[in-house]
This record gives sequence, C-alpha cells and structure tokens, in this order.
Amino acid sequence: MKVRVSAKINLMLDVLGTLPDGYHSLFMLMQSVDCCDVVTVQRTESGRIEVQTSDARVPAGKDNIAYKAADAFFCATGIENTGVSIAIEKHIPMAAGLAGGSADAAGVLYCLNTLFAARLSDVALRRVGESVGADVPFALTGGTALCMDKGGVIAPLLPLTDKFVVLCKPDMGVATAGAYRQLDAAEHLRHADRTAMLYAAHNGDYPLLCEKAANVFEQVIEVPSRPHIKGVMRACGADLTLMSGSGPTVYGLFSEEEAAKQCAERLQAEFRDVHICKTVSHAIETVEA
Ligand code: ATP
Repeated sequence: MKVRVSAKINLMLDVLGTLPDGYHSLFMLMQSVDCCDVVTVQRTESGRIEVQTSDARVPAGKDNIAYKAADAFFCATGIENTGVSIAIEKHIPMAAGLAGGSADAAGVLYCLNTLFAARLSDVALRRVGESVGADVPFALTGGTALCMDKGGVIAPLLPLTDKFVVLCKPDMGVATAGAYRQLDAAEHLRHADRTAMLYAAHNGDYPLLCEKAANVFEQVIEVPSRPHIKGVMRACGADLTLMSGSGPTVYGLFSEEEAAKQCAERLQAEFRDVHICKTVSHAIETVEA
C-alpha cells in the first residue's frame, strides 16, 4: 500500500504549562500543506520491521520514527508482526519544524491498520500515534485543527483553503527535544492571544487569524536569517509570516499564487531549501491500495 503524507505548518504554537505526567501541555493550531513524503508499506514474511529511506541523512531501521510507529501499532493491537517492509521517499525537509517524520509515522499507522485489518477507530489510531510523537495525531487527521494536551486532543476547524505557502528552511536543523529544554529554561515568555486566534479560526476570520498567529519558539530559538526571510516574504505580499514548530523553517502565507511564486524565486537565490505549496484539507492520500 502506498500513501502520500503531508507536512504541517503551525498557525499557532503555545505551551500552556505542564501536564500531571510532566509533559508539556500544548496549544497548537495546525495546517496541512501539500509538501509530501511517499510511504510504501508491504507485508512480508520476515517477522521483522524493515525501514528504508531515499535520503541517507534519515536514519534507517530502529531509529526511524516509522519503525517506532509500526512497533507501537503491533504492541497496541496485539497483532503478531509476521513482517513488514516500509519504504520512505523523502521530500519534506528534515529537522525543519514541518513534522516530516511524524507524517511518515502517521502513514505507516494508516497503512498497517488497513493491511492487517485491525479496524482501529480514528480515535484509537490517534492514541497510538500520540505515543509515537506529539505531531502524529494531527498527521493522521490533517486539514486545519486545534491540537492540545500532548497533541492528541484534536478539534477540527474550518479548512483554510486556497492559500499558497512558501517554505524557507535556513541551512541549519533544530532538534525538537533541545528546543523544549530551551523553552523550559526561559525566564519570561509572552503567551499568544489564543482566545482571539481560536475565534478567528472557528469563524473563518482570515485577517484576524493572520494578525494573531504566533509561535512561542520564536522567543527562544535563534534563527539568524529569520528577520530577513520574513522581510522578503512581507515585501512580496505575504499575509502572514511565522516560524513553524521548533524551527528553523519560516513560512509565508499568500492569497495570490503569483506573489508566492515571486517570493519563492527571490528566496531560492539565497537559500537551498525553498518550496512552494498549498494548504490542503487532508493529511493522507492513498496512491495505491
Ligand atoms: P517536528 O516538527 O515534529 O518536531 P521536525 O520536522 O522538526 O519534526 P523531523 O524531520 O520529523 O523533524 O525529524 C527530526 C529528526 O528525527 C531527524 O533529524 C532524523 O534524525 C530523525 N528521524 C527519524 N525518522 C525520521 C523520518 N522518517 N523522517 C525524518 N526524520 C526522521
């Protein structure tokens, strides 16, 4: 079975506090974009989980989040692993704040649920996803959604359609765990106007959504080129510019395709990892059943 799995951008990312189990309590407004990896999952008779990727920088085998997802699936369902092979064609930039690994994990869970006829409900599959990573439940759900708690409490919102997105990843990676440690060490954090943002997203008030969009990680993760990238995006007519996840990717949201194209061209002259894509209302698309 082959699926296309989507990256996400954060329209808002804030941390509300600490959960009783010590994890961060998150408030994330997420949006799927059609920057996709392709994940192929096949049943084999090896009795093992085998993971291959098209990009040598992505760990193969047990260290790949896709492996962890498959392992979590067999543990949660009690189904015997008679063998699976997973092939990942990477297109989503890595360690970028775009949840590429989480998208791959979601694709694996989705395929295994079908291939092994496990019939896990959406909620049950999201719970397995949450045990793998905070962005996996959203990567199973897609569209526009509010994700809270450890990422698994999800409320779908009005789809944000027909917007063009320019992704610009400066030449650095950010490790998510380290980024959270920096957040914990910060003395003063300004929190986002979550109330107004949720109102804007729920009521389709696009100008208000663009005004209120915020990412708490911008206060603790240094990305030297971020102001410059944002400046170029705004000069090209972006409605909103923000860092996604724990960074370093900066995105611009555009209503006009031509403006987005011009912006991507300008940034491509300076940065290697620049993509243009659209907002989409799904996360996983089946390519081959
Ligand atoms: P998030 O926004 O969820 O924090 P991210 O976009 O910052 O994710 P990923 O690209 O998902 O980061 O991966 C971060 C690290 O995880 C990579 O540096 C890589 O070593 C490791 N990794 C494990 N499996 C994968 C995978 N399938 N795809 C990409 N990276 C993976």
